[in-house]
Amino acid sequence: MAHLDRSHDDVLREALEASGQRFTEQRAAVYRFLATTDKHPTADEVFLAVRPEVPVISLATVYKSLETLVGCGLAVKLTYGDGSARYDGRTDPHHHARCLSCSRIFDISGHLPSKEISELEQRTKDFHVTGYRLEFTGYCSHCEARGAVPGEVQVHH
Ligand SMILES: [Zn+2]
Ligand SMILES: [Zn+2]
Repeated sequence: MAHLDRSHDDVLREALEASGQRFTEQRAAVYRFLATTDKHPTADEVFLAVRPEVPVISLATVYKSLETLVGCGLAVKLTYGDGSARYDGRTDPHHHARCLSCSRIFDISGHLPSKEISELEQRTKDFHVTGYRLEFTGYCSHCEARGAVPGEVQVHH
């Protein structure tokens, strides 16, 4: 793991310097955790995960570190209608599926065909589309196994 940690630190150092920010051990611990989990944690979850490693870190510092990572392109912030936010250390294009029962987020690799995107863009006359976010909702296999799925599956458009 030592080798892996070092390379994450190098990536972080480079990105921070490119955006005029300082490398700190707190930011490094937050990034190391985020880059090695696929759980799309909340700031609270990041805080609990890095505290054993950096006992002096505060929740406020974790928030600021996460926003710094988002600002320099090393993380993506996923915001939800209820005001909650999750952070994703995976920055290559991918989609998400969110379990309606346990709120876990799953990564889905792949792109929509660009033909469909451009067809949709043509319907947005007063808007220049530069990207899109797609989120699938449903139930993970764990929740399905324990019977958390309502009888009828509804697909909202
Ligand atoms: Zn679930
Ligand atoms: Zn993701």
